[in-house]
Amino acid sequence: MNIDGMISVEEARRRILAVIERLPAEEKDLADTLGQVLAEDVASPVTIPPLDNTSMDGYAVRAADTAGASEASPVMLRVIGEVAAGYIFDGEVEPGAAVRIMTGAPIPRGADAIVPFEETDETPGRNFGSFAKGRSSVGVLKAAEPGANVRSAGEDVLEGSDVMRAGTELGAAQIGVLSSLGNRTVRVYRRPVVAIISTGDELLELGQSQAPGKIYDSNSYSIAALVQEAGGVPLRLGISHDTVADLTAKIQDALKTCDLLITTAGVSRGDYDVVKDVLLREGEVDFWTVRMRPGKPLAFGSFVAPDGRRVPHIGLPGNPVSSMVTFELFGRAAIYKQSGRQGWERPTLRVVVEDRIVNSDGRRFLARGIVRQEEGRYVASLTGPQGSGILTSMALANALVVCPEDVPSLEPGDEAEAMMLGPVR
Ligand code: AMP
Ligand code: MG
Repeated sequence: MNIDGMISVEEARRRILAVIERLPAEEKDLADTLGQVLAEDVASPVTIPPLDNTSMDGYAVRAADTAGASEASPVMLRVIGEVAAGYIFDGEVEPGAAVRIMTGAPIPRGADAIVPFEETDETPGRNFGSFAKGRSSVGVLKAAEPGANVRSAGEDVLEGSDVMRAGTELGAAQIGVLSSLGNRTVRVYRRPVVAIISTGDELLELGQSQAPGKIYDSNSYSIAALVQEAGGVPLRLGISHDTVADLTAKIQDALKTCDLLITTAGVSRGDYDVVKDVLLREGEVDFWTVRMRPGKPLAFGSFVAPDGRRVPHIGLPGNPVSSMVTFELFGRAAIYKQSGRQGWERPTLRVVVEDRIVNSDGRRFLARGIVRQEEGRYVASLTGPQGSGILTSMALANALVVCPEDVPSLEPGDEAEAMMLGPVR
């Protein structure tokens, strides 16, 4: 804490993450685990591929038989049968014999190389297709090395080997690998259910008629989307009036099912900022002013759920930009920790600023910027006016350009760090 009562962004995050715990693991259908984190070490019950097999369509041969083969003097082999992927050829390739074979089919006994169709007289455009099927001999046009076009059993995975460690985040490739082992389900850390309550008498639900002095609730939508993007399951519980009774009821309802509670607004110094009163009565809550702009007021604490779980609560500020930016810095980290995910940070880029960014009051300023690539460097312009109520600035931005606490201004041409919210334009 500082003399002015403000804490740094890092201190606020440290305090939040010190309390938040990873959720328990659950057994889940593999198809449903994208973005979740493996909660068990996985060893393989199978060898992949299970048998030596061919990587090409062609003929399974004894390599020695093909010695000296060329276009000018093909080696003629007797075709004794055919095998497709998924079947075993139950004969043996004796000297002078060949088996017509399709990609993925196990190598027949006796054979040690595959001659692709392209290196036989059965080439596309020549006599490929139905005519080739059932023919009794094939001309090999090129000598094959032993092992040519053969994929060895176990070249990918060996039975009993460790395939993946607990803590691995499951992307498409990891899900692919786990499915290749044949198990339908896998143990992953649970996704947090994040209850979101907007507070404010001025708020209208979408679809309600406009009314004097009222605005539509955008926070619960933007925050729900950010929650989902971070891997949480958003549970929008609508709007609470600025009354202790209404907010208390909504919070009690949320606590039945949620792992994290997010409220927006009502945490600053206004007369109707009842979130403060409710939080103090019902939970254990700290109110912080964080040395950042947008987003100075922030509440953090916890409530006890009916089943005894302690549910953390983050009270985001009400201004729509502040709400999103504070979620970026605190909410996202909390959801990652609950999910067992690493690296909640957005990627950053060093950029050259094009517009002046003024830091009026010694807080970390996160300006909404548009980062593009130009002549081998990254350049950031501002989206326009930077008020914390101007939500369209977030919609235009692909980055938050950071002006540090101790830097009074960034001038055009200065370098800065940009937290990337989306791809470079
Ligand atoms: P407060 O923190 O309650 O003083 O709110 C700060 C500002 O954010 C006020 O202008 C509110 O009208 C606005 N605000 C609060 N909640 C929302 C919301 N859910 N959607 C859009 N604006 C909001
Ligand atoms: Mg309010």
